[in-house]
Amino acid sequence: SRYYTITEYPTGLPREAIFALCEEALPDLREGEVRVRNTWLSVDPYMRGRMSGVRTYIDPFELNAPLQGAAIGEVVESRDSRLKPGDKVRHMAGWRDIAQLPAQDAETLPAFKVPEQAYLGVLGMPGMTAWSGLNRIAEMQPGANVLVSAASGAVGSLAVQLAKTKGGTVVGIAGSQDKLDWLESRGIEAVGYRDKSADELTQDLQRACPEGFDVYYENVGGVILEAALNCLRTYARIAVCGMIARYNDQGESEGPRNIANILINRVRMEGFIVFEHWDHYGEFLDEVGPLVERGEIDYQETVENGLERMPAAFLRLFEGSNRGKMLVEL
Ligand code: NDP
Repeated sequence: SRYYTITEYPTGLPREAIFALCEEALPDLREGEVRVRNTWLSVDPYMRGRMSGVRTYIDPFELNAPLQGAAIGEVVESRDSRLKPGDKVRHMAGWRDIAQLPAQDAETLPAFKVPEQAYLGVLGMPGMTAWSGLNRIAEMQPGANVLVSAASGAVGSLAVQLAKTKGGTVVGIAGSQDKLDWLESRGIEAVGYRDKSADELTQDLQRACPEGFDVYYENVGGVILEAALNCLRTYARIAVCGMIARYNDQGESEGPRNIANILINRVRMEGFIVFEHWDHYGEFLDEVGPLVERGEIDYQETVENGLERMPAAFLRLFEGSNRGKMLVEL
């Protein structure tokens, strides 16, 4: 089996040199275990937090030990009655080509007619995150005006489309022209943020939605949060999903200068972690699975090929050169 480790905890944007590709011979399977040939590996922004060496809501990665992450693969050998060779499964032993794990830690894929890697993206953790933040945290109401940052990414692209199915004006913020074009092709008002001050971005958001927003789905933080705080209606709700602009910060992060707008507009701002909502995954699949199967949700993927591309694929998330779900195909 070949797998990735990190050799040190990075400060700032990780260098590719901290990722080491290692090789080991796997022991014979023990009772209750399966061996899985991974076909798709996920890279996700939250993995940066696990590289910081401290516990956040989840333990840090151990140095010089196999990294973990979501993966899809095919069972090639089984010593458990629940799984047999040929079964397609999802599990957390990613960042490697062959995984060996307890069968109870691998789940068989739901039966929608979608490509298997959709269960790492639109019908997997990022999709579930979009749905949970919008419905369970922001409690989005029909007709609400919704603002989403990192709006063409794995989470954001589903958040804008779900909001659009029941919303008023939906505005997505993204970093490049092709992302803005994609948003507009889905009927979303698109606003670019690169090289703009909070005040400039505020003006663009006000132009896109003069009434202001009832919901802000926050993926980025920093300047974008400050601009969003200028454009909220009374009693708006902010679902704080992520703050990717800060994950590589080295000192203290600057706060939005207008944080008092939360008080002035009686805004509720709430962070959440998707895993605490996982008991609703079935409900999410019942609602979103058929939409994806029928092609009513457009999900995009950016794919790198080969295990060696894992570090580069991961780093693309912070450059913004991914569109939709960033994946590695083996
Ligand atoms: P994406 O597919 O959205 O990829 C990341 C995108 O973030 C980039 O393409 C880029 O888009 C944008 N970005 C990166 N760096 C910056 C920066 N410095 N400033 C502004 N934008 C930046 O990733 P995901 O959809 O997987 O994740 C989106 C967010 O959701 C992240 O914050 C992540 O941590 C969070 N998340 C939270 C979960 C939870 O349980 N709370 C679960 C899953 C994800 P652009 O070109 O538009 O700038």
